[in-house]
Amino acid sequence: MTDINPDHDAIKQPLRLTGACYCRHLTYLLKLEDSKDAKTTLCHCANCKRAFGGAFGLTTKVPIQAFRYDAGSGKPTIHAADNGMGSTIYREFCSKCGSHICEYGEQAKYIFRSVMFGSLDEPSALPPKGEWFCSQREDWMPVIPGKLAQFRKQ
Ligand SMILES: [Zn+2]
Ligand SMILES: [Zn+2]
Repeated sequence: MTDINPDHDAIKQPLRLTGACYCRHLTYLLKLEDSKDAKTTLCHCANCKRAFGGAFGLTTKVPIQAFRYDAGSGKPTIHAADNGMGSTIYREFCSKCGSHICEYGEQAKYIFRSVMFGSLDEPSALPPKGEWFCSQREDWMPVIPGKLAQFRKQ
């Protein structure tokens, strides 16, 4: 007889999610071997506020091999800029409707993609795990409650 591992945390939960820009010129597939490989976070920094046009940035970080544009998708336009701290940040967006699809810093260029949470067709599958730059949180913006926020930085 073989032992059955009762530790559910050790069981991988594969997850396939689709996403698109507002006009669906860009469409993509997120294929995770384990849903735990995805990390959704809020960021309250000034750069995210400006890039997202909102009170915070909200992205889901995944290993680069988990993210790919569909074969029939259009090509994203890539904007590179200083992230405000001397390193480059890249944002991929739709040149037709302007929606962001993903972003990544110079260091993570070949390792991770931070996918824009709202571009996912079913974002509820990946709730936030933490928050960055909490010192720049808007006064009226509540803290992410309870165990959802496993960490809060800066
Ligand atoms: Zn579009
Ligand atoms: Zn930020």
